[in-house]
Amino acid sequence: MVQVETKISSLFINGEWHDADSGQTDAVTNPATLQTITEVAYGGEFEAKRAIDAAKTAFTEWSEMSPRKRSRIMYKAHQLMLDDVDRLAEILTTEQGKPLKEAKGEIKGAANFLLWYAEEANRIYGEWIPSSQRRKRILVVPQPVGVVGAITPWNFPSSMITRKIGPALAAGCTVLLKPAPETPLSAIEIVKIFEKAGLPEGVLNLVTGDAKAIGEAMLSSRDVRLITFTGSTEVGKYLMRESADHVKKLSLELGGHAPIIVFEDADLDVAAKLTLGSKYRNAGQTCICANRVYVHESVREKFSQKLIEHVEALKVGDGSDPSTDIGPLINEQALEKVENHLNDAVSQGAEVVYGCSKWNGELDGHFYSPTVVTNVTDDMAVMNEETFGPLLPLQTFTDEDEAIAQANNTDYGLAAYIFSENLDRSLRVMERLEYGIVGVNDVFPATAEAPFGGIKQSGIGKEGGHHGIDEFVEQKYVSIGMH
Ligand code: ADP
Repeated sequence: MVQVETKISSLFINGEWHDADSGQTDAVTNPATLQTITEVAYGGEFEAKRAIDAAKTAFTEWSEMSPRKRSRIMYKAHQLMLDDVDRLAEILTTEQGKPLKEAKGEIKGAANFLLWYAEEANRIYGEWIPSSQRRKRILVVPQPVGVVGAITPWNFPSSMITRKIGPALAAGCTVLLKPAPETPLSAIEIVKIFEKAGLPEGVLNLVTGDAKAIGEAMLSSRDVRLITFTGSTEVGKYLMRESADHVKKLSLELGGHAPIIVFEDADLDVAAKLTLGSKYRNAGQTCICANRVYVHESVREKFSQKLIEHVEALKVGDGSDPSTDIGPLINEQALEKVENHLNDAVSQGAEVVYGCSKWNGELDGHFYSPTVVTNVTDDMAVMNEETFGPLLPLQTFTDEDEAIAQANNTDYGLAAYIFSENLDRSLRVMERLEYGIVGVNDVFPATAEAPFGGIKQSGIGKEGGHHGIDEFVEQKYVSIGMH
């Protein structure tokens, strides 16, 4: 496995690596073995403020640099990332737990965001609007919002960063990045890549450590114009409330509670295989993974049989073992949440048809066996709250309207999926689903070229696609009088 130093100076401020001023450090743990991998700096408000100052100073030069030049640096970072995919994937698996094959996929996807936004940097067009008055001209000039605070989660420690800093840097913004405390190593690697690619000092700054204090430094700064956040709805709401004083822009990717609807006219082999992919990828720790499955009662038996055949074949273990399909959950609380959802469901009459229980393998990590339950009802926790683990509840429905109503019966609105071979029905149902993303016979919608984002309490704004740039750009209206 990859070698990591026992202590890392993980604060990158104005082009230099530092320890925390207090000398405090924070352990990074391998969730498969519970061994400490390394210690990183535990920074706080002091370091975050310095980083914001550095980003503010760097903004003028970076925002005025030609897009082509910015693009070249980003393209180089993309290339450096791809050149190092194996090592970066090993680091990711060590700190996050996901199987190596998934980690490699994530690094490639992360690099792809840099490539996409290296290209988009050159295409941030303005407008010339025909005026209603003969001696006036109207221009719309896109300009970078300014200093950006980026707060990222542990479930995709690499791609959630590039999906934010890619468009930010392309637009000409400068950044203070605060990664999740569970997975700082992937963030450090990305920053090193940009350092190597020739990013000017102060453009991208990294502060690991006290989430609340770093967040407060962002919130209380009049220089931080946008906070881009991916994480829980609870923290998203907190950031929204606290942003009011400075009327900051916000881009929020929050929780989800994705339904999968399997209609009676679905290709059941495809539906079962992809349901498995959606639910058990990253051990169920993705915000767009299926939280609940509604299957038409006429195909319930066939579908669950096929699904369970796939689930049985899954191998739980250390993600660094190439044969592993499901790695550990990130921590003890994550494990407890899955257990609570299962116990709550079973106590109210749900039937476990496969799996159940902590994995009793040889490793100490937070493992949970993939589990399928039926006889679930709408009021069970698993049908309402984000489980973020490998527990899959199956419920039946009898008609289309009922399935749509059940799917929409949530405060979340990130992703929903339908399986049907009927095009009319697929379009009809897609239009009625109150979600930012709908997968039709597909459960892997996240990609650099498409706008990813939720509605309702799942968030505000889009990441990915040319739409992703919009978050980081202000449209300046210029009215020109000709005298
Ligand atoms: P999860 O429960 O999945 O870890 P969180 O929303 O708690 O989701 O975390 C997502 C990111 O938000 C992480 O980087 C975390 O450190 C950060 N975070 C958590 N609380 C705060 C806060 N009060 N202010 C700023 N960032 C926070």
